[in-house]
Amino acid sequence: MPFAWTINPYRGCEFGCKYCFARYTHEFMELWDGRDFERKIYAKVDAPELLRAELRQVRDKGLPIALGTATDPYQPAEKHFRITRQMLEVFAEFAGLDFSLTTKSVLIVRDRELIENITARHRFGVHMTVTTLDERLARRLEPQAPTPAKRLEAVRALARAGIRVVVRRRCAAAITTGSSRMPRRSIWPRAWPRPDKHSGIFSRTGRPSTPRS
Ligand code: SF4
Repeated sequence: MPFAWTINPYRGCEFGCKYCFARYTHEFMELWDGRDFERKIYAKVDAPELLRAELRQVRDKGLPIALGTATDPYQPAEKHFRITRQMLEVFAEFAGLDFSLTTKSVLIVRDRELIENITARHRFGVHMTVTTLDERLARRLEPQAPTPAKRLEAVRALARAGIRVVVRRRCAAAITTGSSRMPRRSIWPRAWPRPDKHSGIFSRTGRPSTPRS
């Protein structure tokens, strides 16, 4: 998932994954208790307007943009603030950009029609993080995030709409911080759904890999 620019509509993330290495970023706000990261969420309500101004100035449209590298853009706060949706509406005013969105949330399906429009105008893909298919382990690791089964349902719904979606075993926060403590093969059951032409599985390095059967 290479990118030159990154956008995070929220600071902090209610999903509260135990392995989340973005937690330390709350220290920039002088919040020293690691749990504040999942309890005190900052919503960047001006972000859509700022994005519009930035995109008007973009000269090199080929530089990849990643939405949601440090916190989940479809975490529960998005139901109320709708900042991610507003940002996607801004992206829909432009064309020819290379950008992606990373999430663990099924709330993304709410914006399926808007994302279909974006897919037609940009080089765009959704990255859905599914760390494990073991529901009990997922609940321990990612206590507030949707279950793996629900995430895979969202993947299917997006893929059926013709949206390019890949499933990742590692979240962007762990990839960008180079975490080596994410769970690996030992917790990965052999039950991957087969990808269709719009979906696939990317390894930690971002290279396409063969799904397990
Ligand atoms: S790993 Fe991702 S989804 Fe989990 S708490 Fe961190 S930012 Fe949120």
